[in-house]
Amino acid sequence: MKVVIVGSTHAGIAAVKQVLANYPEADITVYERQKQISYLACATYLHIEGTVRSLADTFYAEPDDFVKQGVKMAVQHDVISIDAQAHTLVVQNLLTKQKTTDSYDKLIMATGSITAIPAIVGIENTKVRLCKTFDQARDLCAAAADFQRVAIIGGGYIGVELAEGYVRTGHDVTLIQKPTRLLNGYLEPALSQTVEALLTGHGVHVLTNTRATRFANSADGALTITTTRGELTVDMAAVSAGMLPQTDLLTGQVKMAKNGAILTDDYMHSSNPDILAAGDNAVIHYNPTQTAAYSPLASHAVRQGALAGINVFERRVRTLGTQSSTGILIFGHTIACVGMTTAAAKAARFNVGSVRYQGSYRPDFMPEAYQVTIELIYNRNNRRILGAQLLSKHDISQSANTISTLIQNRATIDQLALVDMLFSPNFSQPFNYLNLAGQMAVAQENGYQRS
Ligand SMILES: Cc1cc2nc3c(=O)[nH]c(=O)nc-3n(C[C@H](O)[C@H](O)[C@H](O)COP(=O)(O)OP(=O)(O)OC[C@H]3O[C@@H](n4cnc5c(N)ncnc54)[C@H](O)[C@@H]3O)c2cc1C
Repeated sequence: MKVVIVGSTHAGIAAVKQVLANYPEADITVYERQKQISYLACATYLHIEGTVRSLADTFYAEPDDFVKQGVKMAVQHDVISIDAQAHTLVVQNLLTKQKTTDSYDKLIMATGSITAIPAIVGIENTKVRLCKTFDQARDLCAAAADFQRVAIIGGGYIGVELAEGYVRTGHDVTLIQKPTRLLNGYLEPALSQTVEALLTGHGVHVLTNTRATRFANSADGALTITTTRGELTVDMAAVSAGMLPQTDLLTGQVKMAKNGAILTDDYMHSSNPDILAAGDNAVIHYNPTQTAAYSPLASHAVRQGALAGINVFERRVRTLGTQSSTGILIFGHTIACVGMTTAAAKAARFNVGSVRYQGSYRPDFMPEAYQVTIELIYNRNNRRILGAQLLSKHDISQSANTISTLIQNRATIDQLALVDMLFSPNFSQPFNYLNLAGQMAVAQENGYQRS
């Protein structure tokens, strides 16, 4: 049986590993248009700021790893059309330009996403750069050496990380965000303000509620950006305004969400029985709402890719769904988000309750007993946790994962308030800060639910 995998970044690599492990007899071909596989885009800002010395260090797999296991790894090959009915695809070798036709029994689509290009006049200017692929990241990082004034378009987590990377290396950075606050899809307003204060405190010029409307070369060879709040002149701009699923090859051939992401069942099978999809090109199953959603993350891509590989010939393992957990480290502060914000929960018509906890993560008699801020969001009707955001100089990332697991298992604020957590002054208060946030929510709901 022949399996073809299109795309070999996180979803594609996770898929090929599982096909090899679960179906050793399968004949596997991987098509990837880039030369390298497995680039971790999150390393881009880490390289700009100097934490990661070389972008090349961030690859965790090479084509040869799979060639040795019998996989046909066709890198620098672009799949240019797919005929789902005939089970065939046309592929172009990007070096020779030669086109060939291949066939499959099962097709795993791991074609990921592309950066959304906002409709701004002059966006094609060569001083305006993207930051998704390895080549784009390499150019963006190289440009850091030549250019002093940098504008970043988009104040989501990628834009915020890039702002830190450039400002830490002495650049003059302006972060332009169309919505009224940074990380608006991830954080409650008060935490957004904390992030903005962290950035401005380190010299980033933050322009929220501002839309870039035009890029143009300035007389001195720099780049002029016209915005809804005036003009600024920079040497280059980096655009990070969201991701779009890359699914054109299957338009009209499988069912898709409104944004073009491929709809799958719990086993990563698309509406076509011989096509599976995983990663940024597919929807996820979002547990807080129990619906399909689009949430392009590497953490999703590896899990969905693994499932596509495991389930390619038969439905063996169902997805657990996701809480869309994310975490960033900004100027020594960990910010971790899981599940829904209050605004998202209200939009989904939950009866939303929320509390804000603040306290030292361990007893104040201990050194560096950093403050932890937690925003906890829950459903007042059934007391289930819907989301949480944590911010601290202490590394609270694993605590966000704990909340993620609790949401996954439909835990309530009562369970969060009392769930067993270790205590030692090294690590925690006698009641962990997660327990204490749960207890605040319980108090707000006039006490514990009887059990
Ligand atoms: C700057 C940045 C920072 C990020 N940081 C994080 C983070 O910290 N944590 C996190 O979880 N996520 C992060 N992400 C998101 C993460 O990178 C993506 O979710 C992840 O790359 C998705 O993996 P994927 O394999 O589904 O798709 P992609 O990474 O988009 O890979 C798809 C692959 O398919 C190939 N391909 C597409 N079409 C074809 C075709 N027709 N023929 C041949 N090959 C094709 C592409 O060349 C590509 O290699 C970040 C993204 C960016 C841009």
